[in-house]
Amino acid sequence: MSFKEMKHLRRDMGRGWDERTRGGAPHKPLMLLAILDLVDAGDITGDLIPYDQTLLQAFDLRWRALMGDALTNPLQPFWHLRSSEFWILEPNQGFAEALQHHSGLPSLKAFQSMVRGVRLREDVLKAVQTPEGRAELRSLLLDTYFSEGVRPLLLRAGETYVASKGFEEAFREASLREFQEVFDGRDGLDPAFINESRDLAFRRIVLPAYQHQCAACGAKLFTPAGRCMVQAAHIIPFSRSRNDDPRNGLALCPLHHWAFDQGMLGIRDGLVWMVHRHAKELPADPAYLSLHGRPVTLPSEGHLSPAPQAVAWHRKHIFEKIG
Ligand SMILES: [Zn+2]
Repeated sequence: MSFKEMKHLRRDMGRGWDERTRGGAPHKPLMLLAILDLVDAGDITGDLIPYDQTLLQAFDLRWRALMGDALTNPLQPFWHLRSSEFWILEPNQGFAEALQHHSGLPSLKAFQSMVRGVRLREDVLKAVQTPEGRAELRSLLLDTYFSEGVRPLLLRAGETYVASKGFEEAFREASLREFQEVFDGRDGLDPAFINESRDLAFRRIVLPAYQHQCAACGAKLFTPAGRCMVQAAHIIPFSRSRNDDPRNGLALCPLHHWAFDQGMLGIRDGLVWMVHRHAKELPADPAYLSLHGRPVTLPSEGHLSPAPQAVAWHRKHIFEKIG
């Protein structure tokens, strides 16, 4: 069967890895599991798999389930898997030779200029296109590279990813109906599982809608691994509203997200930023203060713009409440 070679992935067997990952680095098996999640969720339609936000999200869910907050760069397994015959990096036009001769991990920028994505060898691709094939490969990867104790965590992470697709659809549909301040999101599942899936679905709509840019300062920040540092903020806090309607969302950089949640920033009618007078009395950064009176950068899809009811709620219950 075509999956045999998946049992012999070359990986770091240094002392840093314990019995949970059978004494070796888990990156490559986690990358392959993430790809199975994407296929399960219907996120891979053609035969080319790009290194994009979707793949990073699926990888990170599984990585966090296993390794918590430990830092990692998923570009590493995506790149180094090319030593396996089934993993064929597809060059951008004119970069075939550069790709072939590049040794060592390239920077994200160099990688993006050289590589369009990965193509799985045809027999492997065919196999993972069937539910049975995915189940077989998933079991093989879990059994070969992970202890029995962590397998349920990894399975749960994959389910979280697939469930987020369902939520994404529901939130998109909600955004076409009349805006409601509070959602009824109870549906009998484990809350941590729901919250993680919902949160991912919310991010998957809000961030691309704003082209991954802060709606206040325009910052568009990515880590060297390609993770987006701009966050999907709730206008009416999720804890109060359980409302993941994208019109209850805004893409904000960590600074402006924090300031908005603290009520140091608000939005007035007409979707214009207000800097709280408290900030003006403090020795604040001029760039921060100059936000006052500037329009909120709106999403390209107009119907996903912040709902007037949501920004009015934030103004009344948070911005005007801080003194
Ligand atoms: Zn910002």
